[in-house]
Amino acid sequence: MTDSSFADVLDANRVYADGFTLAGLEPQAARGLAILTCMDSRIEPLALLGLVPGDAKILRNAGARITDDALRSLVLAIHLLGVDRIAVVAHTRCKMTEATDAELQEMITDLAGASADGWTFHAVPDQVETLRSDLALLRECPLVPARVVLGGFVYDVDTGRLSHEVVA
Ligand code: ZN
Repeated sequence: MTDSSFADVLDANRVYADGFTLAGLEPQAARGLAILTCMDSRIEPLALLGLVPGDAKILRNAGARITDDALRSLVLAIHLLGVDRIAVVAHTRCKMTEATDAELQEMITDLAGASADGWTFHAVPDQVETLRSDLALLRECPLVPARVVLGGFVYDVDTGRLSHEVVA
């Protein structure tokens, strides 16, 4: 049974599968790259970096933060999937820069009608400083070898340009 809430995307997938050309790609990241970026719907991670499917591991979360789960995925990507460079890509006009965690707890509590006290939303008070501290977390992780190159970037959602902000 098909839920009509997904009819548009299921229809689109039938067309996609009919013209499918990516069979046989290897799971290794062909260009040794992992990208952690925000879930923002304005970002096209592959296109903005000139990449194609098969080239890179893509991780996304609110604010492009090095959370426990992002770290888990990156450690697996480094050791099992051929990743030797990691780009953390924040972006301009990110919602996560517009409120503190305390404010987000309050907003979500109101909207959800259930308490968000104790939740960590990983708000971003200062984007460059956050990139720096998140890359430091990666650098200090004993499971991230020194050979892995780390970079912090900010993508401008109004121009498409990427700036290189932080090297770790
Ligand atoms: Zn964002």
